[in-house]
Amino acid sequence: MTAVRVPGIPVIEDGRLVSTSPATGAEAGRLPVASAEDVARAVERAREAGEWWVALGSGARRERLLRWRALLAQRIEEIAELVHAEGGKPVADAVVEVVSAVEHVDWAARNARRVLGPRQVRSRLVLAEFSAHLEYQPYGVVGVIGPWNYPVFTPIGSAAYALAAGNAVVLKPSEYTPAVGQWLVDTFAEVVPEQPVFTAVHGLGDVGAALCRSGVDKVAFTGSSATARKVMAACAESLTPVLLEAGGKDAMIVDADADLDAAAEACVWGAMTNAGQTCIGIERVYAVEPVFDAFVGKVVERAGRLTVGPDDADIGPITMPSQLDVIRRHIDDALSRGGRAVLGGADAVQAPYVRPTVLVDVPEDSAAVREETFGPTLTINRVRDADEAVDRANALSYGLGGSVFGRRRAVAIARRLRSGMASVNSALTFAGMSTLPFGGVGDSGFGRIHGEDGLREFSRAKAITRRRARSLLPSTTFERTPADVARLVKAIKVMYGR
Ligand code: NAD
Repeated sequence: MTAVRVPGIPVIEDGRLVSTSPATGAEAGRLPVASAEDVARAVERAREAGEWWVALGSGARRERLLRWRALLAQRIEEIAELVHAEGGKPVADAVVEVVSAVEHVDWAARNARRVLGPRQVRSRLVLAEFSAHLEYQPYGVVGVIGPWNYPVFTPIGSAAYALAAGNAVVLKPSEYTPAVGQWLVDTFAEVVPEQPVFTAVHGLGDVGAALCRSGVDKVAFTGSSATARKVMAACAESLTPVLLEAGGKDAMIVDADADLDAAAEACVWGAMTNAGQTCIGIERVYAVEPVFDAFVGKVVERAGRLTVGPDDADIGPITMPSQLDVIRRHIDDALSRGGRAVLGGADAVQAPYVRPTVLVDVPEDSAAVREETFGPTLTINRVRDADEAVDRANALSYGLGGSVFGRRRAVAIARRLRSGMASVNSALTFAGMSTLPFGGVGDSGFGRIHGEDGLREFSRAKAITRRRARSLLPSTTFERTPADVARLVKAIKVMYGR
């Protein structure tokens, strides 16, 4: 049976998941839908493949991952075109996304051994007769569940680190971007043809749920906070550990001593790249009173120049058609409660596109300020000073990233943001910095991808002690004497009693 197609909405036809361009409706991908049994089988195969991958050794894994990185870099135009065809993202935005992903694969491959490999750590005086050894061992099979908005960067942010740590990975890409997910695993198979170390299963949310219950050793989920709760509940049934990269409502703070041109440029890009469909996108700005008007003017001037449309426009279509109603509701709510549109506004939503919209003086309790909008829209509110800006920025249950523009106090303000990341005098930069961890607090989730923490996230710490001499103060034995205990008491008072 052939279902009626709405451009951009994935459909299932004859057991195949069909993805289409949200701009044109052209078919972009057609992949078999996995049953719960298929998912279980994929995990079973991945478990064997994972053992092979571990046995290969860290040097060989590094070499394979670097070859994959080279392949991604060589075919960057090909994957960027596919991202564009399937999700509507402008090709230039897709290129930037892939560049970041390539950098993460490179860093994870090069650093896994240093960060996770066996090493001796210091023992302390109380147990000086033992040596201490630490290493980080892979979980086994990691299930990665991905969103559509960054269909290369987000799965790779988990998968590259999990693979570098010695795990096999089963990916459930978003139903909006299955072809991109399949492209990633297919290119990996070109450099690791021997075993299904990195594979994909396709389908709607139920396939993600089946992956949570399939016996994987860890689930790395990236998506909305609502689905994150379901994933955690499903994983709780088997005590499967989870990493949750969920939604956000990131704020930018513009302080009195900010470079306003630089702030406006970063703000417009941070809010409107990928049509604003960015988890760490700038959605609200708090600008201090003395610079508010000048800053808004510069933002409006820049955002007003952006082109909207298919192909090489600055802003492409909204990927998920249902999101258009959310964006319209947020704009209408802001305007009906006294906010003003200084760019775009009530008629900005013209499916499948949304024109850049800048709203000012929007009540803090309106949907446009409190809920994730995921469109090329922005609220800018005036605040007395940076302290008020921090209070308002921190007032939501989300806490993913953030941005601060200023000179003297900017880093101190960034520290006070209740978020996992912040960029000072730029926007979103932390995402591409492979040496830094990435993840949120509160409703934005927990756990960290990227950097050393990201490698450890996909490993279990294994601690080993080894006796190297007889104990001078034997205590953990029934052979101890009252005199031994008395000496222990004396020693502890000397060591810690002052
Ligand atoms: P979503 O939550 O609708 O879907 C994400 C994935 O979960 C999809 O693959 C979907 O099929 C799957 N899924 C749905 N129901 C499931 C269930 N019950 N069990 C298991 N899996 C299930 O999110 P989306 O619309 O694809 O992505 C957009 C959201 O992702 C936004 O909220 C955005 O902020 C967030 N996001 C967060 C980050 C981050 O790193 N924190 C990065 C990108 C996107």
